[in-house]
Amino acid sequence: MRVLKFGGTSVANADNIKLVLAIIAQKAEKEPLAVVVSALSKVTDLLQLAASKAAQNDESFRDIVLEIEKKHLDTLKQLIPVSEQSALLSHIKRIINHLETLLDGCFLLGELSPRTSDTILSFGELLSSFIIAEALKQKLKNTNYKDSRELIKTNAVFGKATVNFELSNALIQNYFENNDAQVVLLPGFIAATEDGITTTLGRGGSDYTAAIFAGALSVDELEIWTDVNGMYTANPKLVKQAQPIATISYQEAMELSHFGAKVLYPPTIQPVLQKNIPIWIKNTFEPQAEGTLISNSVAANGTPVKGISHIDNITLITLEGSGMIGVAGSSKRLFEVLSNEKINVIFITQASSEHSICIGIQNSDAETAEIAINKAFEIEIAQNKVEPCIVEKNLCIIALVGENMKNHQGLSGRMFSTLGKNNVNIRAIAQGASERNISVVINERDVKKALNTLHENFFEENTKQLNLFVMGVGNVGEKFMEQIHQQKKFLKENLKINLRVVAVSNSKKMYFDEEGMSLKDWPSLLVNGEVSNAEAFVSRVKELNLRNSIFVDITANEKVAQLYEHFLKQNVAVVTCNKIACSSAYANYQNLKNLSRKYNAPFLFETNVGAGLPIIDTVKNLIASGDKVHKIQAVLSGSLNFIFNNFNENNPFDEVVKEAGIQGFTEPDPKIDLSGVDVARKILILIRESGYQMEIEDIENLSFLPEECMNTTNNDDFFKSLVTHASHFQQLLKEANEKEARLKFVAQFENGKANVGLQCIAKDHPFYNLEGKDNIVLFYTDRYVDQPLLIKGAGAGAAVTASGIFADVIRIGNV
Ligand code: ADP
Ligand code: ASP
Ligand code: MG
Repeated sequence: MRVLKFGGTSVANADNIKLVLAIIAQKAEKEPLAVVVSALSKVTDLLQLAASKAAQNDESFRDIVLEIEKKHLDTLKQLIPVSEQSALLSHIKRIINHLETLLDGCFLLGELSPRTSDTILSFGELLSSFIIAEALKQKLKNTNYKDSRELIKTNAVFGKATVNFELSNALIQNYFENNDAQVVLLPGFIAATEDGITTTLGRGGSDYTAAIFAGALSVDELEIWTDVNGMYTANPKLVKQAQPIATISYQEAMELSHFGAKVLYPPTIQPVLQKNIPIWIKNTFEPQAEGTLISNSVAANGTPVKGISHIDNITLITLEGSGMIGVAGSSKRLFEVLSNEKINVIFITQASSEHSICIGIQNSDAETAEIAINKAFEIEIAQNKVEPCIVEKNLCIIALVGENMKNHQGLSGRMFSTLGKNNVNIRAIAQGASERNISVVINERDVKKALNTLHENFFEENTKQLNLFVMGVGNVGEKFMEQIHQQKKFLKENLKINLRVVAVSNSKKMYFDEEGMSLKDWPSLLVNGEVSNAEAFVSRVKELNLRNSIFVDITANEKVAQLYEHFLKQNVAVVTCNKIACSSAYANYQNLKNLSRKYNAPFLFETNVGAGLPIIDTVKNLIASGDKVHKIQAVLSGSLNFIFNNFNENNPFDEVVKEAGIQGFTEPDPKIDLSGVDVARKILILIRESGYQMEIEDIENLSFLPEECMNTTNNDDFFKSLVTHASHFQQLLKEANEKEARLKFVAQFENGKANVGLQCIAKDHPFYNLEGKDNIVLFYTDRYVDQPLLIKGAGAGAAVTASGIFADVIRIGNV
């Protein structure tokens, strides 16, 4: 024999019930079955709502009754042939009338006792089991219906009654011994006292009903049919990557369900555990899926962590004070108070000094607990020996569960550091003596992030999901998106990095997709996105609170640079090719670096100097390994290099500048490049990264632009002035040619001083042969004395800049 239980979603409507009937019919061919069913999905919630409305004199409970009635009548009509409906529909209407009478009573009295509440809630299972039994009889004549209240007897603690197993087991065995039906259909969740008053087994209690029958009848197996493919490594509704667990021990399953894995009602294990009856969790909507087997055997070499679960709506109450130390029985008193108030304690930690004790309870119990505890310790509080208890609401418990955790060191460290890296603040920690469970209390707003990041760390071979928020999708930005699109598969397969772009924005529009947008269709999604707004963008990133969030700035905008601070404080990493922040006031640059350290949020800007060339990373490594930079000489402007490499007698200066712009080698405002400001910013950043404190004003700018060109206020005027001063530029060229030298715009730093300016570079200098838009940097350090460390290569262009940004993102992925 075997017991099957079908949950609320499995019996939500006629279509689903048909699937259930098919499963029952198939199984009944092989052996007799006891089938337990829940109420139709959401019906118990509706009953509870109707009851509380009625008790508050709110007439709208009648609408809810109508809704419940319609739901059941509709379901029945779709399952039973018309010719046989009438008597059954009348029966349902009678049940509904009875329900309405009870609710009327609550309405008139303005009251809802726990006893009445249980009777009202029982209607969900009474209705569902009646309909399903009738529908099943259409298929299997040899079906019996039995009201579980006649078989499961409990005490009179309404709401969550305790089962009298001795009596119930005897009644159940007796009934089944004298029954030869192929299938007995029974309502879950409901029971009765010995006097026959209806009780319930607690919300979600149909699983328990099924286990009680399974235990009493010593069946071969218990099957819990629900709406997911088994017990998962984490709640699949919150963690997309969660996987069904193939096999799990009773203890592990119990621990996971106690800590919130709703798929199994926690007391369910107990009646089957003693008899060693295996439980299968199966999916009604995918019956061929393997499901989860809960049994006595534990895989000896299984993964240390079996699953991660969580409980929301937790309040932490801390009681502390010198009066707690060494005073025998402080905790005993505390727990007594809570027990008297029937408050369930979910979580306990106590400092070894006994100076404080901290408990986790449900939010709904918080006020009662606070009042009761302060009252119980009022003398100590008056004497200042104990503080009034501290109450923190809206928290959540997250638990790692696994039988094999005790054989592995460092799991708790790994748990804490994974959460810490994502800026999830841990409020309290507890580890059971069985070492089957490590639980932490965190803020409710961090739950999804915490579950996902822990899941990633413990179950996904260290796959790391990176969530990108991209601002600026011009030349470079487009290339960046293209490169990600191209590399996504490779990164996932080879580096275990799962790159997702959650937001893109330009100056006009922004578009968010929490699940990561299509990397092909993003341009059209953006065009149809919302109007862009920096503040809204920042708060969306904060609200989404995704793990490993990275803000990618691909603009040259000062306002965007001002956002970094907000992101870093939210533990959102910043990757930027925008030089403004790092070349702004030293205090600001330093502040961003400090925030990055403090909030564990990387701040990377490799592309600020030399586009994709690994210049900043190299300086960082030199400094970190104890080297000291004394002198830097560099050609850092790909655009100026391109311009002076192409400028000659036949190619006028203004035309070359225009061409550089078209090819994307200059800033949108070319004057920033030609005036030397851009190069000054770059050398400043290198100087700062080398460990020196300097401001942009400290860098001498030996500009080669005539005053008039410098004073123009728009691009048109600027180009006109370049034409006007064509002879000035020709003169510069002539002087260089006469010396057999080439013009290069050089930045240098030595002895604490820095300057940028146009220089005639002689043939034997490493800068002489610098081609196209290349950059070159020479670092003279303690270790590189005679021969400088030289980095050379393409230093401008959309593709190389995009790949530099990409490299920074990957650096974060590899941390
Ligand atoms: P039923 O109505 O069939 O009793 P429940 O809603 O009580 O179903 O339980 C199934 C639900 O439990 C799933 O849909 C899922 O949202 C939730 N759940 C939470 N944690 C887990 C987990 N670790 N594995 C599977 N499901 C889980
Ligand atoms: N119908 C009850 C509830 O919703 C019992 C169950 O579904 O297991 O709590
Ligand atoms: Mg359930």
